Amino acid sequence: MKSPKYVYLFEVADGTNKKLFGGKGAGLAEMTHMGLSVPPGFIVTTEACLQYYADKKKLPKGLMEEAQENLKIVEEKTGKVFGSPHNPLFFSVRSGAALSMPGMMDTVLNLGLNDETLEGLIQTTSDGRFAYDAYRRFIQLFGKIAMGVDEKEFDQILNKTKERCGAIEDTDLNADCLKEICEQYFGLVKKKTGHSFPEDPMLQLKLAIEAVFKSWMGKRAVDYRKEFNITPEMAHGTAVNVCRMVFGNMGFDSATGVAFTRDPGTGENILYGEYLVNAQGEDVVAGIRTPKQIQEMKKEMPKIYRELERVRKILEEHFREVQDFEFTVEKGILYILQTRNGKMNAQAIVRTSREMVSEKLVSKEEAVLRLKPHELEQLLHKRIDPNFKGKPIAVGLPASPGAASGKAIFDADEAERVGKLGQKVILVREETKPEDIHGFFASQGILTTRGGKTSHAAVVARGMGKPCVSGCEQLRIDPKERAATMGNVHIKEGDFITIDGSRGEVYLGEVPTVDPEISKDLLTLLSWADEIRTMGVRANADTPEAAERARQLGAEGIGLCRTERMFNAVDRLPIVREMILAGSKEKRSEAIAKLLPVQKSDCKEIFRAMKGLPVTVRLLDPPLHEFLPSAEELASKLRNLQEVESAFSSMENISEAMKLLDPAFRESLKLLDHMVADIVEIKEKRLDKKLIRKQQETLRKVQEMKEVNPMLGHRGVRLGITYPEIYRMQIQAIMEATAELIKEGLDIQPEIMVPQVCTAQELKWVYELMKKVQKEVERQYGIEICFKFGTMIEVVRACMRAGRLAEVADFFSFGTNDLTQATFSFSREDAENKFLPLYNQRKILQDNPFEVLDVKGVGRLMMIAIEWGRRTKPDLKIGICGEHGGHPESVEFCHSIGLSYVSCSVPRLPIARLAAAHAKLKEKEKKPPEKYDPDQTFSIFF
Ligand code: PEP
Ligand code: MG
Repeated sequence: MKSPKYVYLFEVADGTNKKLFGGKGAGLAEMTHMGLSVPPGFIVTTEACLQYYADKKKLPKGLMEEAQENLKIVEEKTGKVFGSPHNPLFFSVRSGAALSMPGMMDTVLNLGLNDETLEGLIQTTSDGRFAYDAYRRFIQLFGKIAMGVDEKEFDQILNKTKERCGAIEDTDLNADCLKEICEQYFGLVKKKTGHSFPEDPMLQLKLAIEAVFKSWMGKRAVDYRKEFNITPEMAHGTAVNVCRMVFGNMGFDSATGVAFTRDPGTGENILYGEYLVNAQGEDVVAGIRTPKQIQEMKKEMPKIYRELERVRKILEEHFREVQDFEFTVEKGILYILQTRNGKMNAQAIVRTSREMVSEKLVSKEEAVLRLKPHELEQLLHKRIDPNFKGKPIAVGLPASPGAASGKAIFDADEAERVGKLGQKVILVREETKPEDIHGFFASQGILTTRGGKTSHAAVVARGMGKPCVSGCEQLRIDPKERAATMGNVHIKEGDFITIDGSRGEVYLGEVPTVDPEISKDLLTLLSWADEIRTMGVRANADTPEAAERARQLGAEGIGLCRTERMFNAVDRLPIVREMILAGSKEKRSEAIAKLLPVQKSDCKEIFRAMKGLPVTVRLLDPPLHEFLPSAEELASKLRNLQEVESAFSSMENISEAMKLLDPAFRESLKLLDHMVADIVEIKEKRLDKKLIRKQQETLRKVQEMKEVNPMLGHRGVRLGITYPEIYRMQIQAIMEATAELIKEGLDIQPEIMVPQVCTAQELKWVYELMKKVQKEVERQYGIEICFKFGTMIEVVRACMRAGRLAEVADFFSFGTNDLTQATFSFSREDAENKFLPLYNQRKILQDNPFEVLDVKGVGRLMMIAIEWGRRTKPDLKIGICGEHGGHPESVEFCHSIGLSYVSCSVPRLPIARLAAAHAKLKEKEKKPPEKYDPDQTFSIFF
C-alpha cells in the first residue's frame, strides 16, 4: 500500500483544509495561492502527528525523506542552501492545530544554525553581532524545546554575562559577549543532556518536528484542551509549519509587527496594529521594547505602510472576515507570516458585521452568524469596567446579568426607605420571598446567600432586568446585627458593595462599571435576525413596564405573565392575606371581590401595552403560604408582643410605686403618668390583645398550611380546584379586561394558561369553569370574547398524557424549570449551590440543567409531548417559558424540535432573537435530534 503523503509545499496544500494542515498552515497555503509575499516553506500534516502517536512516538516512515524533497524546492526558490557555509537557508518551525491554541505549543526559530552556517550568516549580513544574537537565541530555544534543558539555566548564563559585560539590556551585548554566551550554552546542553548540541541541520529539523509533536501532548496543551472542552475529534493533532526564516532584526530597514484589518476594539475600518523596527517577534511578546502604533509607520516606512494597506484589502476580500496577521520586513521587503480570523469584542463584531454587509463583503446571513448569542450578552448589561483590577470578596451564582453598586441593606423595608431617599441599594438577604418585592423595586441589585438560578430572587431579578447574585454561601448574614461577614471581611448595613450578576461576583466598595450599548448597528443586525428566524420570540413579563420594554426589544407577545407577581404589590398583599386567612367562604369571597378590580386593571394595562400581540396569562401557581410571613417570623413577632403586653401590665402601677419610694420624683414622673394613661387607653381598647390574637391566628393558619414539600404540594391547578373562587376571579378579570379594551377598539389577544397540570381531567375542570365565566362576561358586555386556552407542560405525566391534554388545549407551554426539577428529582431551590457545581467539576453532568436545557432527558420528554400533542391537534401551538427559553443552545434545540416560539426574560430577548436566527441558518448542517417513534414505543398507552 502506498504510504500517505505527509509533507506539502505551501503552494500545493489546500488552504481550506484546516483539519489536515492546521489553521496556521492553511492560512500560509491560502496566502501563497493568493500571491501574497509569504516566505516559501512546507507543512507536515496533522495526520503525521496522529501517526507519530499511533507509532508510540516515532516519526512516520518516509516523513523526513519527504521533508528533504520539499526542502530542495524551497532552496531552489530562495537561491539559498540549508546548511551552506556561504549562502545559508534557515527555517522557523512552528506548531499549528486546526483550532487555535495560542502559546500552548512550541516553536523553534533560526533552525539550521551551526558553526559553519553562522559564518555564512556573518558573511551575507556583514553583521557579527546580529549573527551571534541569532545563534544564542536558537541554542536557547532548541535546547529548551528539543533537548529539555531548563530555560532558567540559560537565563542564568545570560544574566551573569550581561553583568560582567556591563550590559543592562540584551541589546547592549556585543558580538564577543554573545559568542561567549553561545559557548557556555553548548557546555550547559552537554552537561545536562550528555549529548553535544546537534550540528547537522537535517537532524535539527527532525528533532524540532518531533519536539512540536511532543508539545501536542504537553501539559499546557492538554490542560488548555480540557479547559475549553476541545475533544480529540475537534483537535486532531498539530501540523508543523516549516518556513524560510526572515529576519526583522537586520537593521533599520527591517521590522516586525502584528496587525488587524480593522480595529478589534471598536470595529472601525482602519489598519490597526503595532510594530518594532529592527526586532524579532519574540521581542514584542517578551515586552523587551515597547512597540509603536502602526499609524507611525506612515512616516517611518511609507512604502511598507502602503503595502500593508494593500495586503489588508486583499486579505479581507479573500477571507471575507477581519484578519489578524503577522508580518516581518527584512531589508525593505515585506513578508506575511500568518493570518487568522481576528478576535474582536462584541461591539466591534456588531459594527463590522453591519459595515461588511454595506461593503458587499458578506451577506446578511453571514453577518448575523458572525455575532454569537453569548457575545451579545456583553452589550446588553452594565458590566464591571474591564480595566478594573480588583478581586471579588465572594463568589456565588451568576443569577441575573449586569453589574450594580449600592449600599448593602439587609431587609426590604429599609431598602425601600433608603431607595426613596434617592440612594443606591443592594438588597442583601439569605433568601427572598414574595413579600420582599418592594425591596426589589427600590434596589439596584440583589444578593442572596441561599437559592439557585431559578430561586425567587433570581427569577424576579431577571424579570425586572436587575443584576442578582444568588447562593453566595461564603457570605454569612447576621440579620440582628444587620451585617454580613466573609472570612475577616465585615460588611455593615450602609457599606457600599458591588455585585456582578454575569459572573456571580461580589466586591467591596463602588467598582467602576460601563454602560450597555444597544447601538443602531445592533438594532439593524437584530432586524436581519428577525427576517431569518422562523421561530417566534416572546417575553416573560408581569408588569406593564416590563411589557413595554419587551415590545421595544422585539418581543412578539408575552409567553408568560405570572399573576402571582400582581398579588405581591404592597397595596395588594394585605388583601391577598385576607383572602388566604378568611375563616369562611363568605369572608374569602369578600377579599376576592376586592382583588378582582386590581387584577383586572393590571391585565388591562399589560394587554394595552401589548395590543395586537398575544399575551399568555398564567393562573395562580405558587403555594399560598408564599404570600404569608414565615412561622419563625410570626413566632418572633408574637413573642415581642407578649413581652409588650406584660410590660404594659407592670407599668400601670410603676408610677404610683415610684412616688412612694421618693416624693421628690413627683415632678419628673409627670411624663410617665402621660405614658401610663396612653397604655391604659391601649389596654382598654384591647389593642394589644387584638394584635396578639391576630398574630396567633395567622401563625396557626401558617402552621396548618405548612407542607413538607411545598413545590410538590398544594399549588398550581390543584390550588385552583380546591379554591375555585380564586381561579374564577382571575378568569373573570382577564375576560372583563379584554371586553373593555375591545370596546375601546383595541386588538387584544389573551391566552389563559393553567400551571402544574398532570391530567386531562384537571384541565377540563378549569375549561368548564372558564366557559361559564366567559358566557357571563359576554352577556354582561354584550360582545363576543376570543381567547386561547392552554396548559403548561411542567410535570412528567403531562408529557406522557400530552395527546389527551391537546384535546382541551389550544396551546402548550413547556415550563422547563419545573420539568427539569421533576425529571432529575433535583430541587431547583437547592441543587445549584449544593451538589451541582461538584457534578459539573467532576463531569458527572456537563452543564447545569437549570440553565442549559438537558436535551437527553428533558428534551426527549418534550419531543414526546410535541409528537403526541400534535397527533391530536396538528396545529397545536407549542412554546417554552422556562428560563431555558433565553439560553442560546437551548433555543437552537427548541427550533430543531419544532417549537412555535420561545419566551424568555425581557433582557434576554435580543439573545433569543439572534439564537433563533442562528438555529435556522445552521439547521442544514445539523442532524435533526434522534427521532423518537411513538408507534414503536408508547402507542399502547395512548
Ligand atoms: C417553569 O416551571 O418553567 C415556569 C416557567 O414556571 P415557574 O418558574 O414560575 O414555576
Ligand atoms: Mg413552573
